[in-house]
Amino acid sequence: MRIDILTLFPEMFAPLYSSILGRAVKGNKLELNVVNIRDYAQNKHKSVDDTPFGGGAGMVMTCQPVYDAVMALDPAHEARRIYLSPKGRTLTQAAVMEYSKSYTRLLLLCGHYEGIDQRVLDMLVDEELSVGDYVLTGGELPAMVLVDAVARYLPEVLHASESVEEESFSASLLEYPHYTKPAEWQGVKVPEVLLSGDHAKIAAWRKRMAEEETAKKRPDLYQKYITSEPYLKEEAARIKREKRRQQRLAKKKKDEE
Ligand code: SAM
Repeated sequence: MRIDILTLFPEMFAPLYSSILGRAVKGNKLELNVVNIRDYAQNKHKSVDDTPFGGGAGMVMTCQPVYDAVMALDPAHEARRIYLSPKGRTLTQAAVMEYSKSYTRLLLLCGHYEGIDQRVLDMLVDEELSVGDYVLTGGELPAMVLVDAVARYLPEVLHASESVEEESFSASLLEYPHYTKPAEWQGVKVPEVLLSGDHAKIAAWRKRMAEEETAKKRPDLYQKYITSEPYLKEEAARIKREKRRQQRLAKKKKDEE
C-alpha cells in the first residue's frame, strides 16, 4: 500500500520509521510519502494560512497550497483521500480492516490551526475521519494512528508471531490477558491452565477470559457480542449438546434401574 501524507509538519512523522512500521517501509511492504504542503504555496512568503472570514480566533489553512499538493500527488484520484478531522466518522477496527483490504492507496490530509478552508475540502476529499471525540492541535497524530493501525493488516507487515487474529476487537471481544516467564513472580502464579500444554483447554480458557474482560471493561461491546449471529449460533449448538448429554445420562440411569 502507498500512503501519501500531506502536512505542514513533516518532521512529526519520524516515529513511523522505527519498529515494525520502519521494518515494513524498509522491506517495501508499505510506501510512505510525507509531503510538506508549504512546498506548494505559490505566494512570495510561502504562507499557508489566513484569518477566517466572519471573524473569530485562529487561522485557517488556505485552498491553493492544499489543492496543488493533492493534485500533484494524486492527479487521477486513485487514492482514497481522507481528511483527519474531529467531525469525521470515528475510526474503529472495522474501518481499519476496510481500508487495508479495499484500497491500495491512501492520501491523508492533516489540518492545523482552525482547520482547512471548506471549499477545498468539498472539492477534493472523499471522507473525514476522526480518532475520537476530542480536539487535537493537528491531524498529524491521527494520521499516524491510522497508518499504524492499517499497516498491521497489510500482507507480511507483521510476522506470524505478531498475528492480528486473536487481538482485541477482532471478534467483537477484547483480548484475553497475557502472561510470560517467570511462572511465579512476587508470589503471584500465572493461571495453571497456561502451563498444562492442553491446547483445547487453553483456547477455552482464553475465550472465557476474553468474554469476562469484555463484559467487565466494555459492557457496550459485550452486549453487541452476545446478540451477534455467531454467538447466538454457538450458544444454540451448546444448548443442543447439553440437552443431548442430559438425555444420554437420563437413559443410562433408567437402563441401570
Ligand atoms: N476548529 C476545529 C473544530 O472545532 O472542529 C478543530 C481544528 S483542530 C485544532 C486542527 C486540526 O487537527 C484539524 O483540522 C484536524 O485535521 C486535526 N484534528 C483535531 N482533532 C482531531 C480528531 N479528533 N481526529 C482527527 N483529526 C483531528
